[in-house]
Amino acid sequence: MNIAGNLLIGQSARRGTNGVSYALDAASGERLEPGFGGATLEDVDTACALAWAAFDVFRETSLEARAEFLETIAANILALGDVLVERCVAESGLPRARVEGERARTVGQLRMFAGVVRAGDFLEARVDPAQPERKPLPRADLRMRHIGLGPVAVFGASNFPLAFSVAGGDTASAFAAGCPVIVKAHAAHPGTSELVGMAVSKAVKDCGMPEGTFSLLFGSGREIGQGLVRDPRIKAVGFTGSRHAGTDLMAIAAARREPIPVYAEMSSINPVLLFPHALEQRGEAIAQSFVQSLTLGAGQFCTNPGLILAVEGPALDRFVAAASEALVRAPSATMLTPGIHRAFETGVSKFAEHPQVQTVARAQPAAGAHKGQGALFLTSAAAFREHAELQEEIFGAASLIVRCPDLQTMLALIESLEGQLTAALHIDEADYAAARSFLPALERRVGRVLVNGFGTGVEVSHAMVHGGPYPSTADGRSTSVGSLAIRRYLRPVSYQDMPEALLPEALKAANPWKVNWLLDGKIEIGRCG
Ligand code: NAP
Repeated sequence: MNIAGNLLIGQSARRGTNGVSYALDAASGERLEPGFGGATLEDVDTACALAWAAFDVFRETSLEARAEFLETIAANILALGDVLVERCVAESGLPRARVEGERARTVGQLRMFAGVVRAGDFLEARVDPAQPERKPLPRADLRMRHIGLGPVAVFGASNFPLAFSVAGGDTASAFAAGCPVIVKAHAAHPGTSELVGMAVSKAVKDCGMPEGTFSLLFGSGREIGQGLVRDPRIKAVGFTGSRHAGTDLMAIAAARREPIPVYAEMSSINPVLLFPHALEQRGEAIAQSFVQSLTLGAGQFCTNPGLILAVEGPALDRFVAAASEALVRAPSATMLTPGIHRAFETGVSKFAEHPQVQTVARAQPAAGAHKGQGALFLTSAAAFREHAELQEEIFGAASLIVRCPDLQTMLALIESLEGQLTAALHIDEADYAAARSFLPALERRVGRVLVNGFGTGVEVSHAMVHGGPYPSTADGRSTSVGSLAIRRYLRPVSYQDMPEALLPEALKAANPWKVNWLLDGKIEIGRCG
């Protein structure tokens, strides 16, 4: 498979006619061939028409067929081999090992969703059999399952060119739910997007899925992205990126004649709380792992530790000194795009010039295109409370340490925070009582509370929550990582007194798919015949 710069609209690969754009080599800033033809609104219309036509067929494919489809995408991505890895390294500037790891995560995610589909629990099948003799009124036969919402528009994320892009978590969970997907590719990695897009398109063909199950479009967010979200045949949106773009999409989706859910993962500063005993006993060691987490992947993770809260005193001073020393030794790293680097520099300058903020360390500068030079800042609890701008995410390796006079102030600051993806507590047993008193506030503010670690390195599993109250995500009832992500794209349908011949397979009396039922309110495991 070669990169040709084509749109993939159903099974047709064709050149877009709405301008040409190029990928940049992230390390050198040089243009990479070939050019990518942009999509027009007519292309959006064609992709939506195909997706809509595919929906009823795709969502009724058997669990086995859909699971095999997901596994085939995974196999086709692996079959792209080094071509994919090399292009992804060039476009993203991420090290080869990270890209290989991300490919493994992408493939693992697809396979995990194949398992979820095979198990059939996502259908949440429920059966309340008729009670014709019930007095004073008989009960009707009621059966319920979940179906896919409809075609989903997915916006590829810049910071996960594989795991949260064309065949990433949003796409895998939407397919698993039975929803066709139209991806708006991220301009930061178009070649990677086309290669993965071809792997998905091939899987559609290999597995005999309807043509409109998948399309990939290149073009601007404002024209093509918003055009997709406005299209009445699109029924949900998956997005990872800036708060600005996410909230624009939320507004557009809410203003539609039929409003639709937008699952946007936007901004989070992921507070890290250093409790007194842990800080006293092992502050220097925590500082080392903090700087490792802060600078990982040039800090371009939504779970990057952007805020440290601790009680002032000699132990915190030692932590600041150790973290500064570690950061000064850390090399600057290539950021994903010139735009992301500019946004990082702007955010860092704002903090550096803030009268209430002290710059305590910068990472080692480095020559080369858009290198992100890590930054560590210090401020007081009073300044943090007064200046809302100090809560803003600086996407990249930048973090703010807030000195609090006492634990009550630390708790009050947690209460003042916007919604977050994660909060990390550093505690020893002697800190448990204090930590316990923070938990209610943390549960209200964040999607994942973790202990003696950092939020980076998000496990793709069943109990993971990568979500949180606004603005960390648009809808804190969901997660974009892990098997629960499938719920975003499902809705329940109930069937009352439906003749057996018309019931969906999962709800037929003989339960041919052998899925688990909630029978009259009690779990019934894979009921057979
Ligand atoms: P972005 O600017 O939000 O772009 C993400 C996607 O949305 C792109 O495909 C973009 O298309 C599209 N888009 C942008 N503005 C739009 C709008 N008003 N309406 C519709 N679509 C729109 O994010 P980015 O390029 O990845 O990075 C920029 C900043 O986003 C970063 O500096 C960082 O602050 C933040 N970010 C946060 C996270 C996180 O996980 N928290 C992850 C990535 C980025 P175009 O091709 O037209 O740009």
